[in-house]
Amino acid sequence: MASGNAIQSIRGMNDLLPDQMSTWQGVEAALRNVARLYDYSEIRTPILERTELFKRAIGEQTDIVEKEMYTFTDNNGDSLTLRPEGTASTVRAGNQHGLLHNQTQRLWYSGPMFRHERPQKGRYRQFHQFGIEALGWRGPEVEAEVIMVGERLWRMLGLTGLSLQINTLGSAEGRSMFRASLKDYLTPFEKSLDEDSQRRLEKNPLRILDSKNAETQKILENAPTLQDFLERKEREHFEMLQMLLSSAGVQFEVNSRLVRGLDYYTGFVFEWVTDQLGAQSAVCAGGRYDGLAEQLGGRSVPATGFACGLERLVELVSLNKANSLQAHPDVYLITQSADVEGAGVRIAEYLRNKDFKVVSGFSSSNLKKQLRRADVSGAAVAVIVPDGYALESQLMAKPLRGQGEQREMPESDLEKFLRGCTDQLPLEDSE
Ligand code: ATP
Ligand code: MG
Repeated sequence: MASGNAIQSIRGMNDLLPDQMSTWQGVEAALRNVARLYDYSEIRTPILERTELFKRAIGEQTDIVEKEMYTFTDNNGDSLTLRPEGTASTVRAGNQHGLLHNQTQRLWYSGPMFRHERPQKGRYRQFHQFGIEALGWRGPEVEAEVIMVGERLWRMLGLTGLSLQINTLGSAEGRSMFRASLKDYLTPFEKSLDEDSQRRLEKNPLRILDSKNAETQKILENAPTLQDFLERKEREHFEMLQMLLSSAGVQFEVNSRLVRGLDYYTGFVFEWVTDQLGAQSAVCAGGRYDGLAEQLGGRSVPATGFACGLERLVELVSLNKANSLQAHPDVYLITQSADVEGAGVRIAEYLRNKDFKVVSGFSSSNLKKQLRRADVSGAAVAVIVPDGYALESQLMAKPLRGQGEQREMPESDLEKFLRGCTDQLPLEDSE
């Protein structure tokens, strides 16, 4: 008996349904693969952490900490928060387990993050991030590497049209001089700034550069820029990075307004943006955060990383239909009657042993219906086990896509025939 209204998921938290999963899995396979090529190791941390971790890492005056976190008090009276991002936890774990002590680490993570934002296309309350963190390197080389990981990922996924914006926040001293100068510039405009920016003018004027308000952005057009406050060393570091990117053939644009929404960044910052996703244009973002490990109570460790939004990435992959991550079955196996179900199971297992992807139709309905289902499944070939089939008799193989004639054949010829007409050829043993 049904009682009450049908229960729905929480707004902004999505089910990923079976027909989306092949694209997700294709993207996830690419993530793992790119991480492997650059020798990054996976780390998995809890989804729930002490609220303090995010306050200290991300910054009290940020959108995330001020208004986007899912925070609650548990039965012990501890304030806990569903993680809004992955870097704080990764560095916390690195500190806690001594992973950063006199050693370098290349780490990656992937998983759900939670932010209480206004849900819209490309912006959700539970979303997924893939991130990499290179811990222990000071130079621009590792920054270039982090960029190359992203660039290679787009290539693996067949994505074009992502553009790279980079900036440097300079040293702490330069930044504090810039902060003062920006504040001086903005104060006369205070009344015209958006509400958040007015509030930040006193304590954290840098964050105003990240405002999405059009009028605030207009006021910022003539503001002093961070570039005016770079020290020579910082400028040379940034120039070296640009040289490395250029020699790797990576195109980029220096955007001196780019500051990012998290306080832990210290030098180089970047964003990969696309014009294919409307307002939610940032696909991947990151930079250098040399102060974070120490801020969380560990030793000082230079660090660079990025986080990539998987919903936006999956959407981009789906839009670029040219590369189809849809994994269709190789074979749809039809048994014509219950009597040959045993042979059907055996043949399906035999084909899976040969690495073919097989869907069993079972003998639940008539042949015509089953053939229609085979068509819908997108399988390359329908294999029919006919009524009265015994080992020495003939199977029917019917190619469903491309060329190839329907043919009768003994079981022993089936593998060769299928290799001829499936486009996802099973891998041959390499040894
Ligand atoms: P935005 O400017 O779009 O709010 P952000 O600066 O808050 O992004 P980061 O915290 O740097 O984003 O997170 C890295 C990436 O994670 C973003 O570039 C985006 O692809 C993705 N992302 C961030 N917030 C969301 C969200 N609420 N829903 C879906 N993806 C998100
Ligand atoms: Mg945001």
